[in-house]
Amino acid sequence: MTTPSAAPLAYRVTPSTHARTDEARAALLAGDLGFGKHLTDHMVTIDWDAAGGWHDARVHAYGPLSLDPAAAVLHYGQEIFEGIKAYRHADGSIWTFRPRANGERLQRSAARLALPQLPVDEFVESLRQLVAVDHEWVPSAAETSLYFRPFMIATEAFLGVRAAQAAAYHVIASPAGAYFANGVSPVSIWLSQEYARAAKGGTGAAKCGGNYAASLLPQLEARAQGCSQVLFLDPVEGKYLEELGGMNVFLVYADGRIVTPELSGSILDGITRHSILQLARDRGLQVEERKVSLDEWRDGVASGEIVEAFACGTAAVITPIGELKGKDLSIGDANAPAGEVTMAIRKELTDIQYGRLPDRHGWLVRLR
Ligand SMILES: *Cc1c(COP(=O)(O)O)cnc(C)c1O
Repeated sequence: MTTPSAAPLAYRVTPSTHARTDEARAALLAGDLGFGKHLTDHMVTIDWDAAGGWHDARVHAYGPLSLDPAAAVLHYGQEIFEGIKAYRHADGSIWTFRPRANGERLQRSAARLALPQLPVDEFVESLRQLVAVDHEWVPSAAETSLYFRPFMIATEAFLGVRAAQAAAYHVIASPAGAYFANGVSPVSIWLSQEYARAAKGGTGAAKCGGNYAASLLPQLEARAQGCSQVLFLDPVEGKYLEELGGMNVFLVYADGRIVTPELSGSILDGITRHSILQLARDRGLQVEERKVSLDEWRDGVASGEIVEAFACGTAAVITPIGELKGKDLSIGDANAPAGEVTMAIRKELTDIQYGRLPDRHGWLVRLR
């Protein structure tokens, strides 16, 4: 990066007057946390406008936003977000994982959605500021974390269609339970043959709410078929694997190769994906980022050449895929145990995140 970072924004911190008591918080954290159910007591807000740039950084009580009904985000969907976690280590310290990569991705998403770019240093600082007041919300039970949801919305009150001249960046946070409360078990995935997640030249590589809106109907279809997630194929030929609604996908070969669809322009560049590629290389696996067709998957499983499949993303880390189902299609076995390579990489990655293994790639950043 050659752009010098702007002077750090000064934060105004106003503690919430209605924060949960220590007892109430402890009771919440001791219960079933799930994902995204509980929100912490505070949030970060930074405002932006075309004339003044980023300004008014603050930590304040979590609560409803006040938005003009003509705000561009409500009409034209000018919104982007991130997902990143804080992990409590055994000594009580709090760390996050590759935050600069998320900050850089937020900048790329902003560029695609014609939103302003928050400096990467400010992105990392926003997480630090929230943890400074809400650190007691970082749970300590095994495989739990505090999930940050940074997001940016166009706030300008104007119904004309153009890039908004005012925006706001916020960070909220939610304590997250172990994704697999009863041990990691393979899931069934539904192949969407009718819908695409993203278009060629569209916003598939940006982390924006609109992509998720487009994935909800196929997700309902998947649920109705007894599957937990949807796999999308490429939007041009409908032949090659892209990704799930919110996770990247990998196949493991019997001969020691690990393959994931290359970034096509419509695939989201996952940080978990990137980290897994590195850990796979470190273990001497041959890593391939290339086009992978549905036929290759089907034939490879049938011949015994492809032995494992998994999905990955910050929320669940790695989810083994047991079976891919579609109209007149079934690949794999829903009742097969999770793959060995899948589970070994999952364990190594989470061991690094929770400080149980050395951080040899310098991925962890201390927040407190
Ligand atoms: C966020 C996201 C991922 C996973 O990215 P991570 O950085 O690994 O969390 C994958 N696909 C989509 C569509 C996403 O939005």
